Amino acid sequence: MVTRSHDAHRDEFNPWTRIATLIEEAGHLLKLSEGMIKRIVTPERILEVAVPVRMDSGEIEMFTGWRIQHDSSRGPGKGGIRFHPSVNVDEIAALSADMSIKCAVVNIPYGGAKGGVKVDPEVLSREELERLTRRYAYSISPIIGPDRDIPAPDINTDPQVMSWIMDTVSMLRGHNLPGVVTGKPLAIGGSLGHAGATSVGVSICTVALLQQLGRRAEGQRVVIQGYGKVGAPLVKQLSDRGMKVVGLADIHGAIHVPEGIDAQLMASHVASTHSILGYPHGEEIAASELFALPSDIAIPAALGGVIDERVARSMSASMMIEAANGPTTGEGAAELARRAIPVVPDVLANAGGVVASYFEWAQDLQGFMWERDLFRQRLEKTMHDAFDSVWARHEQLGLPLRDTALVVGVERIAEATELRGLFP
Ligand code: GLU
Repeated sequence: MVTRSHDAHRDEFNPWTRIATLIEEAGHLLKLSEGMIKRIVTPERILEVAVPVRMDSGEIEMFTGWRIQHDSSRGPGKGGIRFHPSVNVDEIAALSADMSIKCAVVNIPYGGAKGGVKVDPEVLSREELERLTRRYAYSISPIIGPDRDIPAPDINTDPQVMSWIMDTVSMLRGHNLPGVVTGKPLAIGGSLGHAGATSVGVSICTVALLQQLGRRAEGQRVVIQGYGKVGAPLVKQLSDRGMKVVGLADIHGAIHVPEGIDAQLMASHVASTHSILGYPHGEEIAASELFALPSDIAIPAALGGVIDERVARSMSASMMIEAANGPTTGEGAAELARRAIPVVPDVLANAGGVVASYFEWAQDLQGFMWERDLFRQRLEKTMHDAFDSVWARHEQLGLPLRDTALVVGVERIAEATELRGLFP
């Protein structure tokens, strides 16, 4: 595929090449045929759309969007939509493949898909954001639907954006279609428990790995890159389990707080200043130094490609949990493996979000809403079961957790592909 990224610092990292190589390696380990491996790697459908938007000034601006359906052997496509200036076709393709593997690893009946628009939503007014979202939703509407492909939030998209997508597609089809997207507000078919579910899964994987390594959660020092949908609830959840978040970064910069961040205080600080900087008890540090801060657990929870060889070499933590999608480059992963730092990979660690989406979608299809406790119980069980099955396989195969998760995911996709055969 062609790289169209103009994002200088991430130029050499091609996320598509990285995930394609990982799937191929897993396929070879499983002794799949070359034809089967090619079929699993290759995205089924790539849709690129032009998104014209009338700006508040009256001028028309053009944006580019994509929806990519990677694999549908196990079920309809599932995956988020991100709005970010660095979005490009390789990134969305890679993320769609991540989703296929992720849904297979947690064993939910979905394939993988992903979408995005190359735009900086920070500079749009709310009205411009709504027009952009609705036009993009209209453009991808022929290929999405509750039984075809179900979008969800991702970087810079939220329940309000999902509401506009749900409304646009419902208007086009002439009836309410809550199951067309997940991560919706409660009032229009969202689910109790969806918000913060990714972080719940990340916390479960963190504690489960600590347990396997014979370490206690209490007092573990954590650094988190990202204070968004995943990072923010995570600060609270990990603190509640006795861990200390000693380093934190957001888009504005990074801070070091040796005594540990007070989740409540940070939440109110960010609510009033829109930045983690200036947190009363923190010392500002260079963002590039975050993972070198003295710590036990590293959690990237922002963009992809950030854990490269340099960061991996200077990482202080002795374990890493990937809350972001695709945060580690091939060289970064090799360096972490050389240093024997265990990594719970994205396709397992951050799967709580898509598991929650599955529950929301199931409720929408049935028109029967669950109570919060049932939701939470099922989410926790699904994540524990997934961690345990990847861990058991890891002990059996002696491979790093990432390669093991890929083997588990690719094996399940291959089984479904094989059973269904090749049409026509
Ligand atoms: N964007 C989330 C992810 O990357 C959730 C996707 C979904 O719920 O479909 O896993």
